Amino acid sequence: MENNEIISIKKLHKTYHVGDETINALNGIDLSVQKGEFLAIMGTSGSGKSTLLNILGCLDLPTSGDYLLDGVNVKSLNKNQLATIRNQKLGFVFQSYNLLPRTSALENVELPLLYNPLVNSKERRERAEQALLAVGLKDRMKHLSNQMSGGQQQRVAIARSLVNQPVVIFADEATGNLDTRTSYEIMALFQELNENGMTICFVTHEPDIAVFTSRNVVFRDGRIIKDKIIEKRQSATSALELLDKNKYEFEY
Ligand code: ADP
Ligand code: MG
Repeated sequence: MENNEIISIKKLHKTYHVGDETINALNGIDLSVQKGEFLAIMGTSGSGKSTLLNILGCLDLPTSGDYLLDGVNVKSLNKNQLATIRNQKLGFVFQSYNLLPRTSALENVELPLLYNPLVNSKERRERAEQALLAVGLKDRMKHLSNQMSGGQQQRVAIARSLVNQPVVIFADEATGNLDTRTSYEIMALFQELNENGMTICFVTHEPDIAVFTSRNVVFRDGRIIKDKIIEKRQSATSALELLDKNKYEFEY
């Protein structure tokens, strides 16, 4: 049977110890994410968003509680298995793009496939080209990453996150370094990927970015204080059109 619950989190706690101080970064989180959802994880600085994303992305383990990723309890996995899951099931997009400099867009996107023994060099190239096509960079595949604009670099990073056909993409403040117009263009791309079935967890502290997602989960002091489905989300393409006519205004 197909599993539609991509993320299942129960009573999750994360505690940091710094000197003799104890920081409860996550205080008993329950969260369920279904295949095809596009959710924003929101909240002010220090509310626990990145801590949660590190756990969701298998970069860190919870102090207590359970996290099932695509039906598998991460507690049952060793380091190698976690690394394989990270590489083959999860896509990551960061605020700072994290591309290799002086390296072409194509080579950057091929990178995650180098660790996949099931993919040969020909298929690697084809899949990287497809991913770059999907993010609108057909004509820039051979360009060096450091010679591209911020928006283009983020598109390369999104292509890289797609190339292993992940079950979910995690983005942490992925529009944080971009101007308004470019941010909306990137959100339009995420909306398009989501409309084609991709599950996306998008961390942001910006309400004007969260309106482009379909569910807003708000954190405060390591707790979820609000979890709301957005029935009719704002279209980023329409927002861009209005922006061009100087007519788009986000209501805070
Ligand atoms: P956000 O991403 O929402 O800004 P974080 O998850 O980064 O929040 O931080 C949540 C809380 O945990 C904050 O009080 C922060 O100072 C603390 N924290 C985060 N990472 C660490 C760490 N590696 N060591 C100690 N404290 C941390
Ligand atoms: Mg953060």
